[in-house]
Amino acid sequence: MVESSAGRPAPPPVEARSLAALVVAHRACTRCADAGLIPSARPVFSGRPGQRVLLVGQAPGPVEHDVTRPFAGRAGRELVRWMLRAGFADEEDFRARVWITSTTTCFPGRRPDGAGDRRPGPAEVALCAGWLEAVLHLLAPRLVIPVGSLALSRLLGGLRLDDAVGRAFDAAGRPVEEASPTAGRVLVPLPHPSGQSRWLNDPARRRRLDAALELLSGLLDWTVR
Ligand code: SF4
Repeated sequence: MVESSAGRPAPPPVEARSLAALVVAHRACTRCADAGLIPSARPVFSGRPGQRVLLVGQAPGPVEHDVTRPFAGRAGRELVRWMLRAGFADEEDFRARVWITSTTTCFPGRRPDGAGDRRPGPAEVALCAGWLEAVLHLLAPRLVIPVGSLALSRLLGGLRLDDAVGRAFDAAGRPVEEASPTAGRVLVPLPHPSGQSRWLNDPARRRRLDAALELLSGLLDWTVR
């Protein structure tokens, strides 16, 4: 269970018996606005029952907030380029096959210094944790793609991007060596495609991204078997 910065337990997973009920409840969520953590709540995610891949980013940006569509801005265009390299036919194919959400699903606002979007704080992550846990439970994806360090810490706590990108892990955080494991959920972390991230400035790290996309390419067919 995720804990807030004050050490309080996060709210329990949302009680929803179906993905349809979960989507309705999640779209109506205003917890962070009610707590004064964000100016207004507008949850952004997309998905449909039957998808076997879950992608988890950091948080929506202003473009995503405006159009209520995940990864709709510049970072999203880069992510889609990565997904095409991983084997999706086109953006439509990617969005049709992947439930796309984020660690916190409402735009957290700009940083006070104006240099980019604010990284969601522990209290928002804790408040939003139940939605992510619920979709993991109800969708039961075979492949999970944490995108960026916040999603990585949420799903594979303790691992850094430098340790994780280019490798696959099982749900317990153990490295998975086989490209086509026979059972269980597999997680393949990616860095964040945002221009704010400097992580990919290092050529060695770009090779790690290449390896991660290669891994995804080998796992996509497996997810629908
Ligand atoms: S970020 Fe998550 S918990 Fe916070 S208001 Fe939006 S949907 Fe609700």
